[in-house]
Amino acid sequence: MGLYDELAKIVGNKYCSDKDYINISYSRGLDPVLPEIIPQIVIRPESTEQVSEIVRVANKYKAPILPRGGGCGLMGGSKPISEETILVDMKRMNKILDIDEDNHCVTVQCGINWSQLNARLFDKGYYTGNMGPGSGLAAAVGGGLSHHSGGGGGCAKYGECTENCVDLEIVLGTGEVLTFGSSASQYVKKPFIRLGLGPDLMGIFLGDNGTMGIKTTATLKIYPKPPYYAGKTYLLEKDPYENSCNMVQEMMKMGWTNHLGIYDYFFTPPPSTMGITVENLIESWGDISGGVVFYVTEAYDEKILERNSEILENIAKKYSTRELGPSKEEGNITNWFYGEQGHWQIYHALFSVMGPDYFACTTEMKVPIVKFPEMLHKLDDWLTKNEEALYEVDAEAGVSHVVMLDHNSCYIGSGLSATHDEELKEGVIELWRNQFEFMLKEGMVLYMCGQIGSQVIIDSRVYSEEYYNFFKQVKKLCDPNNLISPGKFRF
Ligand SMILES: Cc1cc2nc3c(=O)[nH]c(=O)nc-3n(C[C@H](O)[C@H](O)[C@H](O)COP(=O)(O)OP(=O)(O)OC[C@H]3O[C@@H](n4cnc5c(N)ncnc54)[C@H](O)[C@@H]3O)c2cc1C
Repeated sequence: MGLYDELAKIVGNKYCSDKDYINISYSRGLDPVLPEIIPQIVIRPESTEQVSEIVRVANKYKAPILPRGGGCGLMGGSKPISEETILVDMKRMNKILDIDEDNHCVTVQCGINWSQLNARLFDKGYYTGNMGPGSGLAAAVGGGLSHHSGGGGGCAKYGECTENCVDLEIVLGTGEVLTFGSSASQYVKKPFIRLGLGPDLMGIFLGDNGTMGIKTTATLKIYPKPPYYAGKTYLLEKDPYENSCNMVQEMMKMGWTNHLGIYDYFFTPPPSTMGITVENLIESWGDISGGVVFYVTEAYDEKILERNSEILENIAKKYSTRELGPSKEEGNITNWFYGEQGHWQIYHALFSVMGPDYFACTTEMKVPIVKFPEMLHKLDDWLTKNEEALYEVDAEAGVSHVVMLDHNSCYIGSGLSATHDEELKEGVIELWRNQFEFMLKEGMVLYMCGQIGSQVIIDSRVYSEEYYNFFKQVKKLCDPNNLISPGKFRF
């Protein structure tokens, strides 16, 4: 028996393919420029045991393995980098294993996507708080946990999805299965907490970009979904970067997530999303100049909601030019964003208006809230400096949005939009790498790294030598033959 036969025996022929016409769809991601390499085998397991057997077989043949969730990664993380790749498509592992209403936790297989999961939880009056990434209609829990994802809703109140993970089952690069979190104790019957029983070894697998093992099941916190919410959208025509930052800082002083119930706070700078105008998305925003801020606050009590809304409105009025709305058509998108689950659609809509000709080469990063205006100005300067080079490769660049995280940080959504032109690809990659390096050296922090981001981290010597050596040793321990996602972080 060869590699294919041994793998097909584990899952059945129906769920294993060595055919290019099937496997070709797994060679792609959203970016238009990183190489599109067809994996030799695509395999679709349905259980942890099958994943473990797949990894053991891969070890026998020394074949590289690439785990893939929804395939929505923006930096090449779920694109194979060699033709020998066995791509493990996790989407059949999409079961909810337990909704534990006593412990306020849900246990799932990691191939489930965020919208499937939350649709089930809504029925019971719960949600995951952090609703995963903006791509949550397709992106899987395993992909989110590999990227420290957020942005798909609830970030200001609940932080990143990894902060809400209490238990994690991993198939290591050896095929061994380990569980991290409270289940590390053989006496714990049901997972309930991440920290304890010694150091936080689960952290090694969170935000690892699929390099340390394959995530098979996860337990996430769930929260009763508050029945009341309100939100406003404001226009900031003057100094939008500074004013939006001052607005959020003042809200933070009032305990914005704990006491004011802020669930999300977004800032969309003037006029573009990686080169496309926001008017494509929200028609009424087409006529405006300046940035837009919107927030959603939620509460378990109507009176508390009223009180919080009033406080927030008073602060927002100080820093904005005028309120937009009340309807979506008039520019207030918060009802759509929160009440109609637009938080997942907004990103899909943004990226779809870029296509079919233009696609994103994203460089999103995290910065302290207090620093985001300065960083946005620096990104504008980078754009001016590289205007000619961008023109030569038919690309545009810009900042699309700033999403607040709980406590003190935010995500800056930025990057290039570029075309699928073979002759221009090298030039786009060079500029893309240049923007990554620029941002990292300004002290910004990458969360989803993928192929390109993780490699720029190493090439630009972002880590000290000692740190990188330690990281390499941890990788060796988890995956001695370097079979899982080789190439990332230059492993
Ligand atoms: C429209 C759109 C909007 C987006 N918005 C956001 C956003 O708001 N915030 C954000 O963080 N990202 C965003 N992204 C990027 C990306 O979709 C997310 O980071 C998402 O969490 C990736 O999940 P996925 O299941 O699609 O992962 P994939 O792309 O399939 O994989 C991502 C990485 O995780 C690894 N991986 C996947 N599953 C597993 C597993 N079970 N075990 C081990 N490793 C695994 C892969 O090897 C790869 O390195 C967006 C993308 C799109 C297209």
